[in-house]
Amino acid sequence: MKRKLAYSGIVIVIILALAFSAYKLMNARNYQLFGNITSHVETNDKVVALTFDDGPTKNTDAILSLLDDYQVKATFFLIGKDLEGQPKEARKIAEAGHQIGNHTYSHKRMVLKSPAFIKHEIEKTDDLIADIGYTESIVVRPPYGKKLIGFPYYLNKHKRETITWNLEPDTFFTQADEKVRYVKENIRPGSIILMHPMYDSTGNELMAIEEILQTLMDEGYTFVTINELLTIKND
Ligand SMILES: [Zn+2]
Repeated sequence: MKRKLAYSGIVIVIILALAFSAYKLMNARNYQLFGNITSHVETNDKVVALTFDDGPTKNTDAILSLLDDYQVKATFFLIGKDLEGQPKEARKIAEAGHQIGNHTYSHKRMVLKSPAFIKHEIEKTDDLIADIGYTESIVVRPPYGKKLIGFPYYLNKHKRETITWNLEPDTFFTQADEKVRYVKENIRPGSIILMHPMYDSTGNELMAIEEILQTLMDEGYTFVTINELLTIKND
């Protein structure tokens, strides 16, 4: 009886350890089982990539005009479903010369999903991005940064890059000045910053982005797109 209890204890510990490892793997920003994943690049150049997730939405004009004021190109990870609803907004992003990435069609967690589902999520969004006249190579960012086996497997098979981030002010802070301070304290050359201005109705996020642009430029940083950052990585 005692031995049986000890065995079940060991089994429970193993199951917990496996569940914990899977959880860590699902959320890892710079490790996955298959293919390239990039959360930042190692470089001495003071470069940084500003990336926006979700949308496009009616906020697009305000975001583009801010980036234009600072003469900065950013990378927009668009949701297929949103793009379908707002193709004009997406086209504006492409026409302004920003990079567009694939953020899946439905923005569901790409964990424990069938290969057919994953393929559809990526390819339908690729088609929608192509439909707005975007011709550059399309990098991919999983919703919530979550992936386990099927998603990286599919991307690796198709030689696609998975892009995450190393700075995520929105996760930790709500006030613009706190977000700016966090970025200022944690920035290093080759960083990828994630922000979410598309569904913000307060103007708070745009204010944070403007202050981040100003602060990092004052520190001598140049803003680049993800594709430009990957070129630096490969040099
Ligand atoms: Zn998202």
